[in-house]
Amino acid sequence: MKFIKREQLKEKPSDLQFGKHFTDYMFMMKYHDGGWDYDNACIKPYEPFVLDPSTSVFHYGQAVFEGLKAYKNDKGEVRLFRPMENMKRMNDSCWRLCIPQFDEKFVHDAIAELVKTEKDWIPTAPGTSLYIRPFVIATDETLGVHSSKNYIMAVILSPVGAYYAHGFDPVRLYVEENYKRACKGGTGNHKVAGNYAASILAADEAEKKGYDQTLWLDAAENKYMEEVGSMNIFFVINGKVVTPKLGGSILPGITRRSTIELLKARGYDVEERLVSVKEVVDAAKDGTLDEIFGTGTAAVVSPVGEFGFEGKDYKVGDGKLGKVTKYVYDELTGIQTGVKPDEFGWVERVI
Ligand SMILES: *Cc1c(COP(=O)(O)O)cnc(C)c1O
Repeated sequence: MKFIKREQLKEKPSDLQFGKHFTDYMFMMKYHDGGWDYDNACIKPYEPFVLDPSTSVFHYGQAVFEGLKAYKNDKGEVRLFRPMENMKRMNDSCWRLCIPQFDEKFVHDAIAELVKTEKDWIPTAPGTSLYIRPFVIATDETLGVHSSKNYIMAVILSPVGAYYAHGFDPVRLYVEENYKRACKGGTGNHKVAGNYAASILAADEAEKKGYDQTLWLDAAENKYMEEVGSMNIFFVINGKVVTPKLGGSILPGITRRSTIELLKARGYDVEERLVSVKEVVDAAKDGTLDEIFGTGTAAVVSPVGEFGFEGKDYKVGDGKLGKVTKYVYDELTGIQTGVKPDEFGWVERVI
């Protein structure tokens, strides 16, 4: 891998707001003349792209991304959590947007190399990590609508603080009945940039009404829970864990899968099936809705204290952090940071 050294290193930030600060170096690889240019792929100083205004990604949004984290403990050990799953999912997203497939092992190794280069940027305080953002954009310079013949793949790194700096803070969700995030046959089950563009209006409106995030319903029947903002969702109803099954419109989260595998291995009943709003509202009314939590790389696990539907708010359990939610958080973050044994073979030591 080529390495281009930078003259002067940046000053490390003192606040670690999510996605605000970026490290000294980035990974970059181009696709041109019918292939990914592995020979000229490089780790180089973090810097702006210079792109022609006609560049196709600006107009038609042919872009995919990923999100994963590197964790460093106080011994200086650095770990990645299931990184090959991110590589595989990014290739799946590329396939859906007609972006050429890439060598997953090559990009994985490039990420490991980049993380090693930037090891001094990885915070060590509990709950902190280095967020890794790989992405691919289409770079043909034309307004013609077709799949591009040129692409840039890049990976940037951002040190991030503890999601729960002041303890677990249960979020309030707004069950969205008008706008849709995804439908079967669309792109909702892939990590493509446009999914987010289409979801911002609903998120803004939910926020204005005093909620933290949108809880999406299915597009066909407007009846079934799908997922939240950038998280998958789990319900604990009458002691049983249920999560919406992946039906082509839900993003297959790696934290979601890990949560299911972990809970099943520890003897919990976990069901992947359709979960209607009615079922959850009824459970809230008769007192059997024990917990709701979201799962995703950024927060790992996010407790839900309340949700709003058809103008009414429903409390989840006692509105505080639930038992299963805390268990999943403690176990997953324990494995990620090397505090708990990695019985599933999920973590990869980089340093
Ligand atoms: C990334 C993402 C998730 C969570 O996936 P993880 O692999 O667990 O980080 C959930 N929903 C959407 C829409 C996402 O983009």
